[in-house]
Amino acid sequence: MGKNTKVLRNEIIDVGKRMYDRGFVASNDGNISARIDSEKILITPTGVSKGFMKPDDLIIVDMEGKLLSGNKKQSSESNMHLQVYKNRPDVNSVCHSHPPYATGFAVAGIPMDAMVLPEVIITLGIIPVVEYGTTGSEELYDAISKYVKDYDAFLLANHGAMSVGNSVLNAYNKMETIEHSAKIQFIARQLGKMNTLNKKQVEKLFLLREKFGIRKDIAPKRPVKKIRS
Ligand SMILES: [Zn+2]
Repeated sequence: MGKNTKVLRNEIIDVGKRMYDRGFVASNDGNISARIDSEKILITPTGVSKGFMKPDDLIIVDMEGKLLSGNKKQSSESNMHLQVYKNRPDVNSVCHSHPPYATGFAVAGIPMDAMVLPEVIITLGIIPVVEYGTTGSEELYDAISKYVKDYDAFLLANHGAMSVGNSVLNAYNKMETIEHSAKIQFIARQLGKMNTLNKKQVEKLFLLREKFGIRKDIAPKRPVKKIRS
Protein backbone atom coordinates (compact mmCIF):
# COMPACT_ATOMS: atom_id res chain seq x y z
CA MET A 1 0.00 0.00 0.00
CA GLY A 2 3.05 2.22 -0.05
CA LYS A 3 2.69 3.78 3.36
CA ASN A 4 5.25 3.10 6.05
CA THR A 5 4.28 1.95 9.53
CA LYS A 6 5.06 5.33 11.09
CA VAL A 7 2.58 7.09 8.81
CA LEU A 8 -0.05 4.43 9.51
CA ARG A 9 0.49 4.75 13.28
CA ASN A 10 -0.11 8.48 13.10
CA GLU A 11 -3.21 8.04 10.95
CA ILE A 12 -4.68 5.53 13.42
CA ILE A 13 -3.94 7.82 16.38
CA ASP A 14 -5.54 10.76 14.58
CA VAL A 15 -8.66 8.76 13.70
CA GLY A 16 -8.82 7.42 17.29
CA LYS A 17 -8.98 11.00 18.58
CA ARG A 18 -11.76 11.89 16.18
CA MET A 19 -13.68 8.76 17.11
CA TYR A 20 -13.35 9.56 20.83
CA ASP A 21 -14.13 13.27 20.44
CA ARG A 22 -17.30 12.50 18.50
CA GLY A 23 -18.53 10.13 21.19
CA PHE A 24 -18.35 7.07 18.95
CA VAL A 25 -16.68 5.21 21.82
CA ALA A 26 -16.72 5.28 25.61
CA SER A 27 -13.89 4.26 27.90
CA ASN A 28 -11.52 1.93 26.01
CA ASP A 29 -14.04 0.80 23.39
CA GLY A 30 -13.46 0.44 19.69
CA ASN A 31 -10.50 -0.53 17.54
CA ILE A 32 -8.82 0.66 14.38
CA SER A 33 -6.43 -1.30 12.18
CA ALA A 34 -4.43 -0.95 8.97
CA ARG A 35 -2.83 -3.46 6.63
CA ILE A 36 0.96 -3.03 6.58
CA ASP A 37 1.49 -5.72 3.94
CA SER A 38 0.06 -9.10 2.95
CA GLU A 39 1.18 -10.64 6.27
CA LYS A 40 1.06 -7.89 8.87
CA ILE A 41 -1.68 -5.78 10.45
CA LEU A 42 -1.17 -2.73 12.66
CA ILE A 43 -3.95 -2.52 15.26
CA THR A 44 -4.99 -0.71 18.43
CA PRO A 45 -4.56 -2.82 21.60
CA THR A 46 -7.03 -3.56 24.38
CA GLY A 47 -7.27 -1.38 27.48
CA VAL A 48 -6.35 1.92 25.85
CA SER A 49 -8.63 4.90 25.23
CA LYS A 50 -8.73 5.56 21.51
CA GLY A 51 -8.65 9.28 22.24
CA PHE A 52 -5.26 9.25 23.94
CA MET A 53 -3.03 6.81 22.11
CA LYS A 54 0.70 7.09 21.59
CA PRO A 55 2.54 5.53 18.60
CA ASP A 56 4.07 2.80 20.81
CA ASP A 57 0.63 1.71 22.04
CA LEU A 58 -0.18 0.13 18.67
CA ILE A 59 0.70 -3.50 18.08
CA ILE A 60 1.48 -5.58 15.00
CA VAL A 61 -0.10 -9.00 14.48
CA ASP A 62 0.09 -11.54 11.69
CA MET A 63 -2.94 -12.75 9.73
CA GLU A 64 -3.54 -15.52 12.28
CA GLY A 65 -3.55 -13.07 15.15
CA LYS A 66 -0.08 -13.86 16.50
CA LEU A 67 1.54 -10.85 18.18
CA LEU A 68 4.62 -9.83 16.20
CA SER A 69 5.57 -6.61 17.97
CA GLY A 70 4.36 -4.23 20.65
CA ASN A 71 4.10 -4.17 24.45
CA LYS A 72 0.36 -4.04 24.80
CA LYS A 73 -2.21 -6.82 24.74
CA GLN A 74 -4.45 -7.75 21.84
CA SER A 75 -8.14 -7.04 21.90
CA SER A 76 -10.55 -9.96 21.63
CA GLU A 77 -12.02 -7.99 18.74
CA SER A 78 -8.85 -7.99 16.64
CA ASN A 79 -9.83 -11.28 15.00
CA MET A 80 -12.89 -9.52 13.66
CA HIS A 81 -10.52 -7.24 11.72
CA LEU A 82 -8.44 -10.17 10.45
CA GLN A 83 -11.60 -11.80 9.21
CA VAL A 84 -12.19 -8.75 7.02
CA TYR A 85 -8.62 -8.58 5.66
CA LYS A 86 -8.69 -12.28 4.75
CA ASN A 87 -11.89 -11.84 2.78
CA ARG A 88 -11.20 -8.47 1.17
CA PRO A 89 -7.79 -7.97 -0.49
CA ASP A 90 -8.93 -4.47 -1.51
CA VAL A 91 -9.37 -3.38 2.12
CA ASN A 92 -6.45 -1.64 3.86
CA SER A 93 -8.17 -0.43 7.01
CA VAL A 94 -10.97 -1.44 9.38
CA CYS A 95 -12.69 0.79 11.89
CA HIS A 96 -14.95 -0.42 14.70
CA SER A 97 -16.81 1.67 17.26
CA HIS A 98 -20.08 1.98 19.18
CA PRO A 99 -21.64 5.22 17.87
CA PRO A 100 -24.94 5.75 19.74
CA TYR A 101 -27.41 6.21 16.87
CA ALA A 102 -25.99 3.46 14.65
CA THR A 103 -25.68 1.16 17.67
CA GLY A 104 -29.31 1.98 18.46
CA PHE A 105 -30.27 0.55 15.06
CA ALA A 106 -28.01 -2.44 15.75
CA VAL A 107 -29.65 -3.07 19.12
CA ALA A 108 -33.12 -2.69 17.60
CA GLY A 109 -32.08 -5.12 14.83
CA ILE A 110 -33.07 -2.59 12.17
CA PRO A 111 -30.83 -2.56 9.09
CA MET A 112 -30.21 0.84 7.54
CA ASP A 113 -31.72 -0.12 4.21
CA ALA A 114 -34.00 2.81 3.47
CA MET A 115 -32.89 4.59 0.31
CA VAL A 116 -33.10 8.12 1.61
CA LEU A 117 -29.79 10.00 1.39
CA PRO A 118 -28.01 10.22 -2.00
CA GLU A 119 -24.51 10.46 -0.55
CA VAL A 120 -25.02 7.40 1.64
CA ILE A 121 -26.52 5.44 -1.25
CA ILE A 122 -23.48 6.25 -3.41
CA THR A 123 -20.80 5.52 -0.82
CA LEU A 124 -22.29 2.73 1.27
CA GLY A 125 -25.57 1.50 -0.16
CA ILE A 126 -27.40 -0.62 2.37
CA ILE A 127 -25.95 -1.12 5.83
CA PRO A 128 -26.95 -4.60 7.03
CA VAL A 129 -27.16 -5.93 10.57
CA VAL A 130 -24.61 -8.71 11.09
CA GLU A 131 -26.15 -11.37 13.36
CA TYR A 132 -25.01 -11.35 16.96
CA GLY A 133 -22.05 -13.45 18.00
CA THR A 134 -20.01 -13.47 21.20
CA THR A 135 -16.94 -11.31 20.81
CA GLY A 136 -13.94 -13.37 19.75
CA SER A 137 -16.12 -16.33 18.72
CA GLU A 138 -16.46 -18.32 15.51
CA GLU A 139 -20.17 -17.53 15.31
CA LEU A 140 -19.33 -13.83 15.00
CA TYR A 141 -16.65 -14.43 12.34
CA ASP A 142 -19.02 -16.64 10.35
CA ALA A 143 -21.66 -13.92 10.48
CA ILE A 144 -19.18 -11.25 9.37
CA SER A 145 -17.89 -13.46 6.54
CA LYS A 146 -21.41 -13.65 5.16
CA TYR A 147 -21.56 -9.90 4.55
CA VAL A 148 -18.00 -8.68 4.24
CA LYS A 149 -17.57 -9.29 0.52
CA ASP A 150 -20.63 -7.23 -0.42
CA TYR A 151 -20.64 -4.35 2.05
CA ASP A 152 -18.28 -1.63 3.28
CA ALA A 153 -20.35 -0.72 6.33
CA PHE A 154 -22.06 -2.98 8.87
CA LEU A 155 -24.08 -2.82 12.02
CA LEU A 156 -23.14 -5.52 14.52
CA ALA A 157 -26.26 -6.73 16.34
CA ASN A 158 -26.34 -5.67 20.00
CA HIS A 159 -22.84 -4.30 19.68
CA GLY A 160 -21.88 -1.43 17.34
CA ALA A 161 -20.73 -0.61 13.84
CA MET A 162 -17.85 -1.49 11.55
CA SER A 163 -16.53 0.10 8.37
CA VAL A 164 -13.81 -0.86 5.90
CA GLY A 165 -11.86 1.13 3.34
CA ASN A 166 -8.80 1.42 1.16
CA SER A 167 -7.12 3.73 3.70
CA VAL A 168 -7.45 4.57 7.41
CA LEU A 169 -9.20 7.84 6.63
CA ASN A 170 -11.47 6.19 4.07
CA ALA A 171 -12.63 3.57 6.60
CA TYR A 172 -13.10 6.20 9.29
CA ASN A 173 -15.06 8.55 7.02
CA LYS A 174 -17.47 5.71 6.37
CA MET A 175 -17.94 5.35 10.15
CA GLU A 176 -18.88 9.05 10.32
CA THR A 177 -21.30 8.54 7.42
CA ILE A 178 -22.93 5.55 9.16
CA GLU A 179 -23.51 7.52 12.36
CA HIS A 180 -24.63 10.72 10.65
CA SER A 181 -27.06 8.77 8.50
CA ALA A 182 -28.37 6.83 11.53
CA LYS A 183 -28.99 10.11 13.35
CA ILE A 184 -30.88 11.58 10.40
CA GLN A 185 -32.93 8.43 9.91
CA PHE A 186 -33.71 8.36 13.62
CA ILE A 187 -34.97 11.96 13.47
CA ALA A 188 -37.06 11.24 10.35
CA ARG A 189 -38.57 8.24 12.13
CA GLN A 190 -39.45 10.47 15.09
CA LEU A 191 -41.09 12.94 12.72
CA GLY A 192 -43.15 10.02 11.51
CA LYS A 193 -42.33 10.13 7.82
CA MET A 194 -39.52 8.86 5.66
CA ASN A 195 -39.69 9.64 1.94
CA THR A 196 -37.56 7.12 0.08
CA LEU A 197 -36.06 7.59 -3.37
CA ASN A 198 -37.59 5.46 -6.11
CA LYS A 199 -35.83 2.67 -8.00
CA LYS A 200 -34.89 4.88 -10.93
CA GLN A 201 -33.46 7.59 -8.71
CA VAL A 202 -31.44 5.01 -6.82
CA GLU A 203 -30.13 3.44 -10.04
CA LYS A 204 -28.92 6.84 -11.22
CA LEU A 205 -26.98 7.24 -7.99
CA PHE A 206 -25.36 3.83 -8.40
CA LEU A 207 -24.21 4.89 -11.84
CA LEU A 208 -22.29 7.76 -10.24
CA ARG A 209 -20.18 5.33 -8.21
CA GLU A 210 -17.65 4.75 -10.96
CA LYS A 211 -17.03 8.48 -11.21
CA PHE A 212 -16.19 8.56 -7.50
CA GLY A 213 -14.03 5.45 -7.65
CA ILE A 214 -16.46 3.36 -5.64
CA ARG A 215 -16.98 -0.34 -6.32
CA LYS A 216 -20.17 -0.71 -8.32
CA ASP A 217 -21.28 -3.85 -6.53
CA ILE A 218 -21.11 -2.61 -2.93
CA ALA A 219 -24.42 -3.14 -1.17
CA PRO A 220 -26.68 -2.39 -4.12
CA LYS A 221 -29.67 -4.10 -2.64
CA ARG A 222 -31.13 -5.80 0.40
CA PRO A 223 -29.23 -8.82 1.67
CA VAL A 224 -30.46 -12.02 0.05
CA LYS A 225 -31.29 -13.50 3.42
CA LYS A 226 -33.82 -11.48 5.29
CA ILE A 227 -32.41 -10.20 8.54
CA ARG A 228 -34.40 -10.97 11.63
CA SER A 229 -35.49 -7.91 13.52
ZN1 LIG B 1 -16.93 -3.30 20.11
